[in-house]
Amino acid sequence: MIKTDILIIGAGPTGLFTVFEAGLLKLKCHLIDALPQTGGQCSEIYPKKPIYDIPAFPEVLAGTLVDNLMEQIKPFEAGYTLGERAETLDKQEDGSFIVTTNKGTKHHAPVVVIAGGLGSFEPRKPLIPNIVDYEDKGVNYFIKDPEVYRDKKVVISGGGDSALDWAIFLADVASEVSLVHRRNEFRGALDSVEKARELAKQGKIQLHTEAEVIGVAGDGKVESVTIKHNDAEKGQTVLEVDNFIPLFGLSPKLGPIGSWGLEIEKNAIKVNNAKDYQTNIPGVFAIGDVNTYEGKLKLILSGFHEAAVMCQFAYQIINPGKRYVMKYTTVGGVEGFDGSKKVAKKEVVQSIS
Ligand SMILES: Cc1cc2nc3c(=O)[nH]c(=O)nc-3n(C[C@H](O)[C@H](O)[C@H](O)COP(=O)(O)OP(=O)(O)OC[C@H]3O[C@@H](n4cnc5c(N)ncnc54)[C@H](O)[C@@H]3O)c2cc1C
Repeated sequence: MIKTDILIIGAGPTGLFTVFEAGLLKLKCHLIDALPQTGGQCSEIYPKKPIYDIPAFPEVLAGTLVDNLMEQIKPFEAGYTLGERAETLDKQEDGSFIVTTNKGTKHHAPVVVIAGGLGSFEPRKPLIPNIVDYEDKGVNYFIKDPEVYRDKKVVISGGGDSALDWAIFLADVASEVSLVHRRNEFRGALDSVEKARELAKQGKIQLHTEAEVIGVAGDGKVESVTIKHNDAEKGQTVLEVDNFIPLFGLSPKLGPIGSWGLEIEKNAIKVNNAKDYQTNIPGVFAIGDVNTYEGKLKLILSGFHEAAVMCQFAYQIINPGKRYVMKYTTVGGVEGFDGSKKVAKKEVVQSIS
């Protein structure tokens, strides 16, 4: 049994920053994530994309943001259960919780924080019967490292931002990029649509609209895909390719968390945002993309703010009767559990009265 003060389900940016905020209050954290690595959507879906709305970072790659968060929380020595999905939540008589994963690992904590984002990652897959045989053998549902596709022949299918953005990006990386979409109109941002059509005119992207990929073939790995055109005259095209990347988005599935007795609205967990981000189960908080309330913005900075507020209230559950007086880190410094200390400088610039 793994014991901790705050058990965090989800090691995305929100879960990771919770470790820092809890650490300032001398609370220990343990994180569970279904993915084999930390970083949530940032690591799994778009590690090489720049983010422009993290305060004080004019531009930061999603992967770098995760690396920085890992560096920032290092002194607080969090524990990790990675590659395991939290399956059950059992409230104990003393009000604490036991959370068990799909692999049977048990975790015990007085406070549980759900930072589960979109839930378990379930990419929408095309209805091609044998596609599972080629998953990770040329078929990928996420692009983690675009360099994998350098000088390769790539077919992307989909009509949203992801499909358009990656087709545009890979036009300069892959030797051939084909974009296949069922309709003539794309759902993505207008400038991306225009850019993709411009690249198609220049011959840098082969555009197949009103068409879909209906077959994948190859000996142990993808060697070709079959495209069926709506126009019967065009019939079917077989393209020799190295990679097939269907980008139809993720189906948001809360997964097992949905059956824990939490109040759910539109596939997200309702919380008390006027106070502490607690759910209808006392002692269980929900922060980041996984929660909902009036005015909610599903942004990384929202998760960071919610983590800071939530930790103050978790402190009171874990240390009943004790009062914690919030200090600026410029005043209190950062004292890690590993003995490290970032101490506030003594020089007083100006006192504020
Ligand atoms: C392409 C793209 C671009 C984006 N660009 C921006 C941007 O520019 N700026 C911005 O602010 N936001 C952006 N976002 C949104 C941003 O990524 C999310 O707001 C952020 O990732 C939410 O963080 P989170 O930690 O709450 O959830 P997530 O990052 O979704 O992490 C949740 C984690 O919980 C895990 N999990 C879920 N259920 C379980 C379970 N039962 N057991 C174990 N683990 C579980 C998941 O595996 C996942 O790792 C973008 C998103 C996408 C997809």
